[in-house]
Amino acid sequence: MAALETRECETECCSSEAKLQCPTCIKLGIQGSYFCSQECFKGSWVTHKLLHKKAKEDKTNQDSSKGVENDVNTDPWPGYRFTGKLRPCYPLTPMRPVPSYIQRPDYADHPLAAEVGLMAGMSESEQSLKGTSQIKILSSEDIEGMRVVCKLAREVLDIASLMIKPGITTEEIDHAVHLACTARNCYPSPLNYYNFPKSCCTSVNEVICHGIPDGRSLEDGDILNVDITVYRNGYHGDLNETFFVGEVDEAAKKLVQTTFECLMQSIDSVKPGVRYRELGNIIQKHAQANGFSVVRSYCGHGIHKLFHTAPNVPHYAKNKAVGVMKPGHVFTIEPMICEGGWQDETWPDGWTAVTRDGKRSAQFEHTLLVTETGCEILTRRLEDNGRPHYMSHI
Ligand SMILES: [Zn+2]
Ligand SMILES: [Zn+2]
Repeated sequence: MAALETRECETECCSSEAKLQCPTCIKLGIQGSYFCSQECFKGSWVTHKLLHKKAKEDKTNQDSSKGVENDVNTDPWPGYRFTGKLRPCYPLTPMRPVPSYIQRPDYADHPLAAEVGLMAGMSESEQSLKGTSQIKILSSEDIEGMRVVCKLAREVLDIASLMIKPGITTEEIDHAVHLACTARNCYPSPLNYYNFPKSCCTSVNEVICHGIPDGRSLEDGDILNVDITVYRNGYHGDLNETFFVGEVDEAAKKLVQTTFECLMQSIDSVKPGVRYRELGNIIQKHAQANGFSVVRSYCGHGIHKLFHTAPNVPHYAKNKAVGVMKPGHVFTIEPMICEGGWQDETWPDGWTAVTRDGKRSAQFEHTLLVTETGCEILTRRLEDNGRPHYMSHI
């Protein structure tokens, strides 16, 4: 996943930064509903829950007037103007449980907490370090933990890759990802992270990142990014790849190829002493040379015991990122490259980031360890000489 945007708390007279979205509102397709804290959410609960009641009543009325019940809904936000052809496909399946013997990050919680006005989903450990730019130098024990979890994350992505073909829904991919995680005694890091409802992100065509797996079937010619993060023994490992669904056009091939090259060229420059701000210059130069643009709202990030932490790693040129690479730093690079403009907007689900012009966007991501002489790609593919999956299809 990429680092998040910020919003304001909806509690009256509170203008704090809000990253928590009411989970019931997400399920019901109610827009907004962001709160800064458990306290604000609880404080607003008595009035807030009336919104749920109203939404349920409206839906019942709509369904009875249409004569449909439990039917697929590809227009959950009347009035929202989509930027491209892609639509969500609701209802989502319920949040999948993770066996209690699997170690959980601090934001994971019992899904029923929402029903009684309790909201998990916020990472206290991340919040406490918010705004700090100090980059952790990992101990040899930490590094071993990262090697293990990143290898497991890679295995899960490779399993997801086997499912990708026309007719499969992104929810079916998510289910396989969820089972592959728990079979490895891993918690799927996206699940309930700031109330994200699924175990991985699936981003189709004009979706830049953070697409929510749903009931839509993949179509021949789609491009699909699957972003996997898993948590094991206290550490997160994060990677993603963009895949071809069936036969894609030449323009899609060029976009995906260039995006992968942007990632690998920037990785080639990683070594002690290099400034984090330099990576964006390399990425944008290569993207622009091929006629593409670079997303600015979402960045790579430090990752270890926290899912998203310092450093912040922008992918665009002339950025002001803080920090110099040192041995023992672990972070992601995950450029999002667009066929058209770089501008993004977010669907009313609060997650799905799409291009404003509706043109396609591709992404690749690795988790990297800075070594004495360069870097180790912790999420590297062990088969096929490390080549990404899409290359087997061109
Ligand atoms: Zn990431
Ligand atoms: Zn990711």
